[in-house]
Order: sequence, then C-alpha cells, then structure tokens
Amino acid sequence: MKEVRTRFAPSPTGYIHIGNVRSAIYPYLIARQNGGTFILRIEDTDQARYVEGATDLIKDTLKWLGLEWDEGPDAGGENGPYFQTERKEHYHEWAKKLILAGRAYADDTAPEVIDSYRKADNDAKVPYLYHNHRPANADKTPEENLALWTEGVPLRFKAEPKSYEWHDEVMGDMKTGPEVCDDIILIKRDGLPTYNFAHIVDDAEMGITHIARGVEYLSSTPNYLALYEALGIEHPLFLSLPHILAPTGNKKLGKRDGAKSVTEYRDDGVLPEALLNYLACLGWNDGTEQEIYSKEDLIKAFSIDRIQNSGARFDEVKIYWYNGQWIRKIATEQGFDELYKRTAGFWPESADSETDEYKLKVLSIIYDRLKTLSDLKTMTNYFFVDPKVDLSLITENKFLKKLSESELVDLLTMTIERLNDIEDWSEENLQTELNDLLAKSGKKPAEYFSLVRIAVSFAPFSPALHQTLSVLGRDKVLHRLNAVRTALVHD
Ligand code: GLU
Repeated sequence: MKEVRTRFAPSPTGYIHIGNVRSAIYPYLIARQNGGTFILRIEDTDQARYVEGATDLIKDTLKWLGLEWDEGPDAGGENGPYFQTERKEHYHEWAKKLILAGRAYADDTAPEVIDSYRKADNDAKVPYLYHNHRPANADKTPEENLALWTEGVPLRFKAEPKSYEWHDEVMGDMKTGPEVCDDIILIKRDGLPTYNFAHIVDDAEMGITHIARGVEYLSSTPNYLALYEALGIEHPLFLSLPHILAPTGNKKLGKRDGAKSVTEYRDDGVLPEALLNYLACLGWNDGTEQEIYSKEDLIKAFSIDRIQNSGARFDEVKIYWYNGQWIRKIATEQGFDELYKRTAGFWPESADSETDEYKLKVLSIIYDRLKTLSDLKTMTNYFFVDPKVDLSLITENKFLKKLSESELVDLLTMTIERLNDIEDWSEENLQTELNDLLAKSGKKPAEYFSLVRIAVSFAPFSPALHQTLSVLGRDKVLHRLNAVRTALVHD
C-alpha cells in the first residue's frame, strides 16, 4: 500500500483563523493513524498578502496544539523546499511541459483589456469565461509560446472544457458540466505560480495522498482535474471541509463573529488539549456519545467517513466547557504538578513573590472552578495579599444583615480564639473545628460560614472554607479576622 502523506498548506497572510485549523488537524490525524507523514508547506506566492511573522505564528500554533510535522520548515525532508517562493524552478519546469504539450500559452493581454471582457460578458449576462476571449497566442505552436513566455508575461492553461465526475471523501459524488472549465492563470506576471497551479505541482512532487481543505476550493476542482490530466498526474483524495458557521445565522464564521485566533485562546488560558478536542469534534464524531478525546484517542477514533458534510456551528461556550473538563482531567490523571506547569503567566501579579509550593496548593483547591487558566488572575488574589476590608459586604450580605454588629464581633472573637489555639491546621481538622464552632455559634451554616469566608477573602466566592483556611495558613487567617473585628468595633 502507498504511504499516506498529508499536508497542511497555509498561506502566511496573518494569524491562523480558528475556522482553518481543522485543515491541519484532520490531515495530521490521517497521517498519524496510518503511520504516514504529515507535511507543513508554506504557500507564500501571494506577495501582496504576505504578512511578516505569519510563518512563525503558524509554526507556534501547530506546535502548541501538538500537531508536529515530519517534513517542512525546521523539520527538513527530502521533498523541499517547503516554501513555495523557493520552488519557482519546479513550477517553471512543469509549466514548460504544459507549453510543449500545447496546453499552456503566454498571455500578454493587458489587464484593462481583460477587465473589458469581464464587463462586456456581465453586461450581456453571459458567464465570463476567458477561453471565449483567447488571444492569438493560444493558437500558436508550443515552440512559439515557449519563446513568447518571457519575464512579466503570465502563462495560462489552455482548457479543453468537458464534463467531470469525481468523488469527494466528504461531499460525496460530484458532477459538473463543461461550463466550469476555463483558461486559468498558471504563472503570474511576477513569475510566481497561482495557488491553482502551485498546489498541484507541490502535492505531486511531495507525494500527497489526501488533500483536506476548505470547501471553497470545491468549485475549482474541475479545473484542477483538467490540470492533473494535462500533467499526467493521478490526483490525491479530496476532502472538502464544510465551513464553520457563525454562532447565529447561516454565514461562515468570520473575524467579526468574535472568534479568536488559536494563539488568542492560548493567551486566554485555554489548554491545547481542549482546543484540539473541540475543533476536531466540530463537524466530526465517532458515532458514540463520547465527547472528551485526547490526541491519542483522536488518532485511534478518527475516520474520514464520519466528517459531516454540512457546516458545524461555532460555539465559544463549548470551548470553555471543554477547557474546564481538560483542566480537571489533567489534574486527576497527570497530577497537580503537571497542571501547575501550565499555569505559568496566568497568576495575578500579587503571586509573583510566592513560592511554587504555595501556588500549587492554591491551585489544588481552586482548579475545579476554573474555566480558563486566566481565571486565576481574578479568582486568587486574596491568597496572596490581604483583601481590603469592606464592611458593606458583611452588613449587606443576605445571610448576615440580620445579625447585629455585636453578634458579628462575638462570632469573630470566638473564631479567633479557637483558631489561635488549635495545633493541627490540616484541612480535615479545620473542618472538624469549623463544624464545632458552628454548633457553638448557634447560627445557621450559611450565616456563620459566610461571615468567616467573607472576612478572610472579601471575594465573591472561594473554595470550601476549611480548604481556604488551611492553604492561607494561621497567620493570614488570624490577621484578617482580627482586621474585620477591629473595623466592626470602630464602625
Ligand atoms: N494556501 C491555501 C489556504 O491557505 C491552502 C489550501 C490547501 O490546503 O490546498 O487556503
């Protein structure tokens, strides 16, 4: 059997849009599950749209998601170069073959003239097809065209329009009439190839067996088939991936729909496992109820025939759901040390001077409330600095507003005295002591525990009280309870 070889072929025109990532994930999975090769190829022939730094961003994104490539930039390989701008001779060589076969011609028609053809066809309400306007060169001999194809002159395919039938692995059996075939540009005025030509040459030279790309290329496939025929190349399998739909309506997900780039989700504290899981399952499922897949699970379970052929809807809430699941999964399966490693850069500034040991303890009691790692910034500040005493949070609290100030002071005094005396500051013992204090207080749990919780954190919520106190440690706890008691007395 032929070695499976797949590729991700992004254009370095900016950041990787979340909607395009499946064009990397699916070919990666196909390569890995077949013991094949996954190639990264940079399609940088559109100089006008080139964005400095975009290739690095692409590489970072793939690395972060765990989609390592076997051939391509940094990885090397026998089929390079892997930047299209460095492959000019390859395209020119194949272009010459087409000229010599009488299937390409040098076309120096001025752009204004081409515009006038387009306009005339539009005005006449007939489809604009360039082969209806072929210049005289199209009928010249191959040798003449070879001589005419000089610097600054574009090269066009000489189409032989006919019907095509082919199979798309996602979209099924396809059929088109001759009206979609045309004289497409192969090499532009600047000497670089168009995507239409370059990808065919590259995929052939790189031995690609599967092309997974956005469905927007489906309508051009007959022109690609014509090129494969003319070049005598067997075409790879085609997988046209449906668009990801915007959260509402029927349009394709765009920048304006609030979808961020992969690196923005990363910077927001989304784990790569979660984003990979979410995106892989957006428009694919294995037919079971399973939702959580690691990369290894995906490699085992993925199958081309279960990619949906209709657009899947983007739902950011689901990304955060997956992220919460993955935060817990990593903590339970790989341990807090592993989860802690992932949290670098996500702690509030106030945590800078704290030890790893202390932060790890904080993480271990708060992790199951995190939706993103950046929640640490807003949820853990009180573990590192004494919160500002704001008595209104106590006196206006729905459970505490019924209590008089002297009752509150007494409750705090009783708590301070006990916590000052106990020797064992473990979570378990604190839980016993707090229950005992509650019994002594004669208050409802919501009343007594709210008071202590607010007094030590002044935060909208905190982990279980005995855990919070245990992690904070006796000094901080007593200091804070005392500060609140003093404030109440002087109020
Ligand atoms: N460079 C094309 C793009 O970024 C790739 C299409 C393909 O995978 O062939 O859309």
